[in-house]
Amino acid sequence: MMDFGVDEEDMEPIALPAHRVWEDLQDIAVYVQMCLSELGLRRWSFCWDRAVRRMGCCNITRAQISLSRYFAEAYLKKDPEMIRHTILHELAHALAVDNYGETGHGKVWYMYCLRLGLRNPTVRCKCEDFTPAHFQRRTTRYVLCHRETGEIFRRYKAKPRKNAARLQRTYIRGRKEETLGKLVIRRIDDDGL
Ligand SMILES: [Zn+2]
Repeated sequence: MMDFGVDEEDMEPIALPAHRVWEDLQDIAVYVQMCLSELGLRRWSFCWDRAVRRMGCCNITRAQISLSRYFAEAYLKKDPEMIRHTILHELAHALAVDNYGETGHGKVWYMYCLRLGLRNPTVRCKCEDFTPAHFQRRTTRYVLCHRETGEIFRRYKAKPRKNAARLQRTYIRGRKEETLGKLVIRRIDDDGL
Protein backbone atom coordinates (compact mmCIF):
# COMPACT_ATOMS: atom_id res chain seq x y z
CA MET A 1 0.00 0.00 0.00
CA MET A 2 1.19 3.46 -0.82
CA ASP A 3 2.22 5.58 2.09
CA PHE A 4 0.78 9.05 1.82
CA GLY A 5 2.58 10.20 4.91
CA VAL A 6 -0.55 10.93 6.87
CA ASP A 7 0.31 12.05 10.34
CA GLU A 8 -1.50 9.58 12.56
CA GLU A 9 -1.88 12.16 15.27
CA ASP A 10 -3.48 14.61 12.93
CA MET A 11 -6.90 13.07 13.32
CA GLU A 12 -8.57 16.01 15.01
CA PRO A 13 -12.18 16.54 13.97
CA ILE A 14 -12.60 19.34 11.46
CA ALA A 15 -15.48 21.64 12.31
CA LEU A 16 -17.71 22.70 9.45
CA PRO A 17 -19.99 25.74 9.45
CA ALA A 18 -23.34 25.15 11.11
CA HIS A 19 -26.36 25.41 8.88
CA ARG A 20 -30.06 25.82 9.31
CA VAL A 21 -32.58 23.57 7.61
CA TRP A 22 -32.11 23.80 3.85
CA GLU A 23 -35.19 25.34 2.32
CA ASP A 24 -34.08 25.31 -1.29
CA LEU A 25 -31.20 24.46 -3.57
CA GLN A 26 -29.66 27.88 -3.11
CA ASP A 27 -29.24 27.15 0.62
CA ILE A 28 -27.26 24.04 -0.27
CA ALA A 29 -25.07 25.87 -2.77
CA VAL A 30 -24.31 28.57 -0.21
CA TYR A 31 -23.46 25.94 2.38
CA VAL A 32 -21.00 24.07 0.14
CA GLN A 33 -19.32 27.35 -0.78
CA MET A 34 -19.01 28.22 2.92
CA CYS A 35 -17.43 24.83 3.59
CA LEU A 36 -14.94 25.25 0.74
CA SER A 37 -13.81 28.58 2.08
CA GLU A 38 -13.74 27.37 5.70
CA LEU A 39 -11.59 24.40 4.69
CA GLY A 40 -9.16 26.61 2.81
CA LEU A 41 -10.13 25.04 -0.51
CA ARG A 42 -9.85 28.36 -2.26
CA ARG A 43 -9.33 27.20 -5.81
CA TRP A 44 -12.43 24.99 -5.59
CA SER A 45 -15.91 25.92 -6.69
CA PHE A 46 -19.35 24.43 -6.52
CA CYS A 47 -22.01 23.94 -9.19
CA TRP A 48 -25.08 21.88 -9.97
CA ASP A 49 -24.94 19.19 -12.59
CA ARG A 50 -27.48 17.14 -14.52
CA ALA A 51 -26.46 13.66 -13.48
CA VAL A 52 -29.19 11.17 -12.70
CA ARG A 53 -27.17 8.16 -11.68
CA ARG A 54 -24.98 9.62 -9.00
CA MET A 55 -25.44 12.35 -6.44
CA GLY A 56 -22.12 14.03 -6.09
CA CYS A 57 -19.01 14.50 -8.14
CA CYS A 58 -15.57 15.83 -7.42
CA ASN A 59 -13.90 17.00 -10.61
CA ILE A 60 -10.19 17.29 -9.90
CA THR A 61 -9.25 18.86 -13.21
CA ARG A 62 -11.70 21.68 -12.75
CA ALA A 63 -11.35 21.80 -8.97
CA GLN A 64 -15.09 21.62 -8.81
CA ILE A 65 -17.56 19.85 -6.57
CA SER A 66 -20.95 19.33 -8.08
CA LEU A 67 -24.20 17.79 -6.97
CA SER A 68 -27.00 16.42 -9.08
CA ARG A 69 -29.82 18.90 -9.30
CA TYR A 70 -32.30 16.03 -9.68
CA PHE A 71 -31.00 14.35 -6.63
CA ALA A 72 -31.00 17.48 -4.52
CA GLU A 73 -34.53 18.40 -5.55
CA ALA A 74 -35.78 14.93 -4.78
CA TYR A 75 -34.10 14.64 -1.39
CA LEU A 76 -34.09 18.20 -0.08
CA LYS A 77 -37.02 17.52 2.24
CA LYS A 78 -37.08 13.74 2.24
CA ASP A 79 -33.51 13.04 3.26
CA PRO A 80 -31.30 16.11 3.72
CA GLU A 81 -28.89 13.96 5.73
CA MET A 82 -28.08 11.97 2.63
CA ILE A 83 -27.31 15.21 0.79
CA ARG A 84 -25.09 16.29 3.65
CA HIS A 85 -23.22 12.98 3.56
CA THR A 86 -22.62 13.38 -0.14
CA ILE A 87 -21.24 16.88 0.41
CA LEU A 88 -18.85 15.59 3.08
CA HIS A 89 -17.80 12.71 0.82
CA GLU A 90 -16.89 15.16 -1.96
CA LEU A 91 -15.21 17.64 0.38
CA ALA A 92 -13.03 14.79 1.65
CA HIS A 93 -11.94 14.15 -1.96
CA ALA A 94 -10.99 17.82 -2.40
CA LEU A 95 -8.97 17.84 0.84
CA ALA A 96 -7.23 14.58 -0.02
CA VAL A 97 -6.25 15.88 -3.45
CA ASP A 98 -5.07 19.29 -2.33
CA ASN A 99 -3.25 18.30 0.84
CA TYR A 100 -1.88 14.86 -0.08
CA GLY A 101 -2.32 14.47 -3.81
CA GLU A 102 -4.50 11.45 -3.28
CA THR A 103 -7.30 10.74 -5.75
CA GLY A 104 -9.99 8.12 -5.36
CA HIS A 105 -11.28 6.50 -2.19
CA GLY A 106 -8.01 5.82 -0.46
CA LYS A 107 -6.60 6.09 3.02
CA VAL A 108 -6.39 9.89 3.05
CA TRP A 109 -9.88 10.33 1.68
CA TYR A 110 -11.17 7.96 4.37
CA MET A 111 -9.32 9.87 7.08
CA TYR A 112 -10.83 13.16 5.94
CA CYS A 113 -14.30 11.61 5.88
CA LEU A 114 -13.89 10.66 9.53
CA ARG A 115 -12.46 14.04 10.47
CA LEU A 116 -15.38 15.78 8.78
CA GLY A 117 -17.75 13.69 10.86
CA LEU A 118 -18.89 11.17 8.30
CA ARG A 119 -19.43 8.14 10.47
CA ASN A 120 -19.56 5.37 7.93
CA PRO A 121 -17.73 6.55 4.87
CA THR A 122 -18.37 4.12 2.10
CA VAL A 123 -15.19 2.49 0.92
CA ARG A 124 -16.81 1.08 -2.13
CA CYS A 125 -15.12 2.40 -5.14
CA LYS A 126 -17.48 4.87 -6.71
CA CYS A 127 -19.41 7.94 -5.73
CA GLU A 128 -22.18 6.32 -7.76
CA ASP A 129 -22.71 3.89 -4.92
CA PHE A 130 -24.67 6.59 -3.15
CA THR A 131 -27.27 6.63 -5.85
CA PRO A 132 -30.77 5.90 -4.61
CA ALA A 133 -32.36 2.95 -6.37
CA HIS A 134 -35.01 4.91 -8.23
CA PHE A 135 -32.35 7.11 -9.78
CA GLN A 136 -30.70 4.09 -11.27
CA ARG A 137 -33.96 3.08 -12.90
CA ARG A 138 -34.62 6.51 -14.25
CA THR A 139 -35.31 6.57 -17.96
CA THR A 140 -35.55 10.30 -18.64
CA ARG A 141 -33.01 11.16 -21.28
CA TYR A 142 -33.83 14.73 -22.29
CA VAL A 143 -35.03 17.76 -20.43
CA LEU A 144 -36.41 21.16 -21.25
CA CYS A 145 -34.49 23.59 -19.14
CA HIS A 146 -33.53 27.21 -18.69
CA ARG A 147 -30.36 28.01 -20.58
CA GLU A 148 -28.87 30.13 -17.82
CA THR A 149 -30.14 28.72 -14.52
CA GLY A 150 -30.42 25.07 -15.56
CA GLU A 151 -33.88 24.85 -13.97
CA ILE A 152 -35.74 21.88 -15.42
CA PHE A 153 -39.34 22.26 -16.60
CA ARG A 154 -40.05 19.07 -18.53
CA ARG A 155 -38.54 15.63 -18.87
CA TYR A 156 -38.64 13.35 -21.88
CA LYS A 157 -37.65 9.77 -22.55
CA ALA A 158 -36.91 10.41 -26.20
CA LYS A 159 -35.58 13.51 -27.87
CA PRO A 160 -38.54 15.87 -28.34
CA ARG A 161 -39.17 17.20 -31.84
CA LYS A 162 -38.86 20.89 -31.26
CA ASN A 163 -36.86 22.86 -33.73
CA ALA A 164 -34.82 25.85 -32.69
CA ALA A 165 -37.29 28.38 -34.08
CA ARG A 166 -40.15 26.83 -32.16
CA LEU A 167 -38.13 26.63 -28.96
CA GLN A 168 -37.34 30.29 -29.35
CA ARG A 169 -41.08 31.06 -29.11
CA THR A 170 -41.75 28.65 -26.24
CA TYR A 171 -42.13 29.84 -22.68
CA ILE A 172 -43.34 28.50 -19.35
CA ARG A 173 -46.85 29.58 -18.45
CA GLY A 174 -46.82 32.19 -15.73
CA ARG A 175 -43.12 32.86 -16.24
CA LYS A 176 -43.05 34.24 -19.74
CA GLU A 177 -40.69 37.09 -19.08
CA GLU A 178 -37.92 34.97 -17.62
CA THR A 179 -38.29 31.94 -19.89
CA LEU A 180 -39.17 33.23 -23.37
CA GLY A 181 -36.25 32.59 -25.69
CA LYS A 182 -34.26 31.05 -22.85
CA LEU A 183 -35.35 27.42 -23.08
CA VAL A 184 -33.15 24.66 -24.38
CA ILE A 185 -33.42 20.90 -24.79
CA ARG A 186 -30.55 19.08 -23.18
CA ARG A 187 -29.51 15.50 -23.08
CA ILE A 188 -29.05 14.24 -19.55
CA ASP A 189 -25.48 13.55 -18.90
CA ASP A 190 -24.23 11.45 -16.03
CA ASP A 191 -20.74 12.79 -16.25
CA GLY A 192 -21.93 16.07 -14.86
CA LEU A 193 -21.31 19.06 -17.03
ZN1 LIG B 1 -16.11 9.48 -4.04
